[in-house]
Amino acid sequence: MSKRLLLVGAGHSHLEVLRQLKATPIRNVDVCMISPSKYQYYSGMFSGFTEGIYSEEETRIDITKLTKDAGVQLIQKKAHTLKALQRKVVCGDGSVYPFDVISFDIGSESLPLSFEDTIARTIKPNHRFIDQMKELRETSQPLIVGGGAAGTEMALSMQAYKQQNRIPGQVRLITADRILSESPKWISSKLEKLLLNKGVHVWKDERVEDIYEQYVRTDQGNKVRHTGVLWLGGARGDAIFERSSIDTDQKGFALVRPTLQFKDYDYIFGAGDCVTLIDFPSLPKSGVYAVRQGPVLWENLNKYLTGGQPMDTYVPQKSALYILSTGGKKGFLIYGPLSSHTHRAWKMKNKIDREFMAEYQ
Ligand SMILES: Cc1cc2nc3c(=O)[nH]c(=O)nc-3n(C[C@H](O)[C@H](O)[C@H](O)COP(=O)(O)OP(=O)(O)OC[C@H]3O[C@@H](n4cnc5c(N)ncnc54)[C@H](O)[C@@H]3O)c2cc1C
Repeated sequence: MSKRLLLVGAGHSHLEVLRQLKATPIRNVDVCMISPSKYQYYSGMFSGFTEGIYSEEETRIDITKLTKDAGVQLIQKKAHTLKALQRKVVCGDGSVYPFDVISFDIGSESLPLSFEDTIARTIKPNHRFIDQMKELRETSQPLIVGGGAAGTEMALSMQAYKQQNRIPGQVRLITADRILSESPKWISSKLEKLLLNKGVHVWKDERVEDIYEQYVRTDQGNKVRHTGVLWLGGARGDAIFERSSIDTDQKGFALVRPTLQFKDYDYIFGAGDCVTLIDFPSLPKSGVYAVRQGPVLWENLNKYLTGGQPMDTYVPQKSALYILSTGGKKGFLIYGPLSSHTHRAWKMKNKIDREFMAEYQ
């Protein structure tokens, strides 16, 4: 009798699983993918889209085609609850999908629950990004909350778009600490200067406490006016794990072993932003790691389903290269303590991103 493998989410690691399945199907295994959208949008190109460099088609991968080519059934729904012991997933519409083995690559949420009923937008789920950004970048005072890599890059890209298209006003950015607080201080200062030179209005060491239609109120008592809020204030786990009594870290990310198996279940796997590695709890939530986990996830799903041993283990690389697009086809490259701001860095980013997309488009 055949077994069923359920892939939940079309994140980076699952794209690799689909690619491998196309080349090497697993005998006697039916594979289904649950994904709310038929497209997977690639966050590495969000900045380029925002600035007007890439088209919508260039930033997305057609999951319908990828699953079809891989012999995988696509279920266009959102998983809502995992019944781990019964090996079933319940989707938002109440439909139930049994499985023998399941794998999660569903990314993260960002908006704190207390702001869920406000007008704040988030980039997740990422298929909503395009429409949200098209609207926001045309307004006069878009406000970004969060001064991490994503917030900084989006502020610079939106500002570049506004300047190139002569849209009056300026982008605003509020961050609870310094810009890119996880980098050395000199990198933070360089990026802060860059934001200011480009005309982005920055409030740092300030926390947004309330969000209203026309302004936000901060813990410093400031009222900052806006024409739309994009929340990029850090990742938190999808509520599905808490709802399903899965062991998570404090932010709600499912805990996984080096084999990418959930802490308490051998038949539940996970990769990308939605999981935290028990051995590397502070690893940043970044696409770089989700991509590298893909081949290990594929190997281990395959081995688990076919009885192969021993399982592979994932060990993250010590340093990751980050290139933030800063507008006008320039990039700010960060590698450990090193940084540079050049057109060459942007070209490198463009090449890496286009090569990644070419693998799956
Ligand atoms: C603006 C921005 C720019 C960024 N730039 C970079 C960059 O240049 N380099 C980098 O390394 N990282 C970057 N990141 C971080 C990067 O986006 C994430 O780390 C990465 O997307 C995580 O990949 P993932 O595979 O975990 O999930 P995702 O890419 O988020 O994909 C998850 C998928 O699962 C689906 N899904 C979600 N919930 C469910 C559900 N319940 N049921 C079924 N499907 C579901 C989603 O619709 C989505 O298709 C950026 C982030 C942002 C916000």
